[in-house]
Amino acid sequence: MADGLGDKLAAPIVARVALIGLGLIGSSLARVMRRKNIAHTIVAADASEDVCARVRELALADDVTTSLEEAVRDADLVILCVPVGASGAVAERIGPHLKAGAILSDVGSVKGAVVTAVQPHLPEGVHLLPAHPVAGTEYSGPDAGFATLFLNRWCIVTPPNGHTDEQALATLVEVWRAAGSNVEVMAPQHHDLVLAITSHVPHLIAYNIVGTADDLEQVTESEVIKFSAGGFRDFTRIAASDPTMWRDVFLHNKDAVLDVLGRFNEDLAALQRMIRWGDGQSLFDFFTRTRAIRRGIIAAGQETAAPDFGRRGSGE
Ligand code: NAP
Repeated sequence: MADGLGDKLAAPIVARVALIGLGLIGSSLARVMRRKNIAHTIVAADASEDVCARVRELALADDVTTSLEEAVRDADLVILCVPVGASGAVAERIGPHLKAGAILSDVGSVKGAVVTAVQPHLPEGVHLLPAHPVAGTEYSGPDAGFATLFLNRWCIVTPPNGHTDEQALATLVEVWRAAGSNVEVMAPQHHDLVLAITSHVPHLIAYNIVGTADDLEQVTESEVIKFSAGGFRDFTRIAASDPTMWRDVFLHNKDAVLDVLGRFNEDLAALQRMIRWGDGQSLFDFFTRTRAIRRGIIAAGQETAAPDFGRRGSGE
């Protein structure tokens, strides 16, 4: 089909899936699951009555409820699509209602903290398999989602403690592949370090630069908007990302983010020194190295060479 997702599966991978939290990621999952016939029955649950009403209007699921307990009953696969900070409380509520043999997964941008928060609430026989689709936009809510969000993006599955049920892992990997993703399996702590470098610290830098520009009294707001065609515009897109989600990312990936920030500050000081001493050769060499990284990302198919001035979604 023209959307790139290919044909519907001849038979669903799972009988009953429960999606908890129907924002950007949850509603995108509901859409692609329906589009690809990944699940026979899709149950959607959200704490917000307004979100549930909108999900019903959009006909994203077979069943929609504000009762998380009811949603997970009899589900073969439950995916938490709530902010990372809410994972533990949601797991505590649904834990006693999960059926034996069910897979409990999530989509949170941090993995170690989710394992710690969720694991204690799960009964024996439930397979915890956290995951992170490295795909997103700066928009939130059920209207923001779309079926192709995960297409050709990575989804990182992070089995806790290095051991996992092979059949459960195979099922989850099949679900994400059917949604269009490439799947990689790694330890939760390794995920958190990699994402601190590739996503979390870059977001912090964007929040910081946009905040600094806003604070500069000698630059007016109209000048910031008028002349933002350069690098600044890309930063404003990233700095428009959901405040709840990103607050939770920094609170729950504290150690890795602080580690990477330490390195970042040292490297920034080195650049500062090159500028102060007029060391053009070192600046040129540094920028040549970073340009090669961008070209590598394009060659790996994770980005296109076309300028987009921040109008498209990105991998988060
Ligand atoms: P979102 O659009 O804000 O959606 C989150 C949904 O969860 C909202 O409908 C929210 O309802 C609901 N919710 C919050 N707390 C809840 C609770 N305790 N019980 C039930 N529902 C609850 O957020 P999102 O962008 O989809 O992000 C969801 C998860 O995906 C986060 O863990 C994030 O780290 C991860 N993620 C996001 C991106 C991205 O780019 N956005 C990318 C990859 C992964 P209310 O609106 O009423 O609070």
